[in-house]
Amino acid sequence: MAKSPETELPLKAFGWAARDTSGTLSPFHFSRRENGDDDVSVKILYCGVCHSDLHTLKNDWGFTTYPVVPGHEIVGVVTKVGINVKKFRVGDNVGVGVIVESCQTCENCNQDLEQYCPKLVFTYNSPYKGTRTHGGYSDFVVVHQRYVVQFPDNLPLDAGAPLLCAGITVYSPMKYYGMTEPGKHLGVAGLGGLGHVAIKFGKAFGLKVTVISTSPNKETEAIDKLGADSFLVSKDPEKMKAAMGTMDYIIDTISAAHSLMPLLGLLKLNGKLVTVGLPSKPLELSVFPLVAGRKLIGGSNFGGLKETQEMLDFCGKHNITADIELIRMDEINTAMERLHKADVKYRFVIDVANSLSSL
Ligand code: NAP
Ligand code: ZN
Repeated sequence: MAKSPETELPLKAFGWAARDTSGTLSPFHFSRRENGDDDVSVKILYCGVCHSDLHTLKNDWGFTTYPVVPGHEIVGVVTKVGINVKKFRVGDNVGVGVIVESCQTCENCNQDLEQYCPKLVFTYNSPYKGTRTHGGYSDFVVVHQRYVVQFPDNLPLDAGAPLLCAGITVYSPMKYYGMTEPGKHLGVAGLGGLGHVAIKFGKAFGLKVTVISTSPNKETEAIDKLGADSFLVSKDPEKMKAAMGTMDYIIDTISAAHSLMPLLGLLKLNGKLVTVGLPSKPLELSVFPLVAGRKLIGGSNFGGLKETQEMLDFCGKHNITADIELIRMDEINTAMERLHKADVKYRFVIDVANSLSSL
């Protein structure tokens, strides 16, 4: 098993890492820092598998440094707290999401918008004080208390893990862009991890929700199980034509390059299309439908810590969790192949504590 080339830190950690653009994950020993005065140490119980993990493993975005241990939908139990930590106690169930550090002084940090801090440190694949951060496909993590959230008591830890990224990434733009007015019509483009949680938030906000998907085989479940009101197969030109001008909002969670034109066509006058998906290639866009229909296109980056806690509490109240396929750590490479083919219902979650330690 390869050793990390970075500065050796005092604590020995174990996880699964990819070493090259094949993205294949395998066992990996590395090190983490001691628990500092403001830190919380978390034994990782579950970690969701986000498509961003897959983009990173394959270096789709061009900034992966190998070896990389992915994972930013972490739920675990607190094992240690620093002397300045008052909010968390040993034994608490907590979550860690997409970032583990930011400058804490810039305008964005001061507004609880750490996700837009120019100096943010991602949970994995980020440089950090001469080392690299490594994520939740591992046994434990040490995180500054600001980047840790309390996990609601009434939610299952495994199905709740995806809320730490998939959940907040759709909740935050829905709130910010005002996509919450009861009775309005929301389109959810792409029915994967983010998309299926967007349906649940949409219904909790009182919206009519239509899924826009390339996968006709997801229709029955989308309606019967996830609570969508209708389902539109984006490859069916007749149905797409009939649905033109019917939606107030669209949240676009598609992971691969696609044209925005058909989606813009579905929007009413003043409609809003918010994209959260991060395909590596530019999306096709003509400004004509924007101008002619006074439409708006926006983007959004996961969420700040205050809003992440708010979102988790909202999920606790409305009983919102992800629909998951729980896997063992040694099933991760097959899971990644399936994620690449949009073949997951609707989020893989790794049973980290029960399957990593037995290796
Ligand atoms: P996912 O589970 O793989 O879902 C993506 C869905 O996109 C697929 O299930 C599929 O839905 C659709 N899709 C895939 N390829 C497509 C294609 N060629 N054309 C049209 N539709 C296609 O991924 P995810 O974890 O939800 O993440 C989605 C995207 O959001 C990724 O790019 C990820 O990196 C990004 N992301 C962004 C943030 C942020 O902060 N902005 C946070 C997390 C993730 P259908 O089968 O229904 O067509
Ligand atoms: Zn993610």
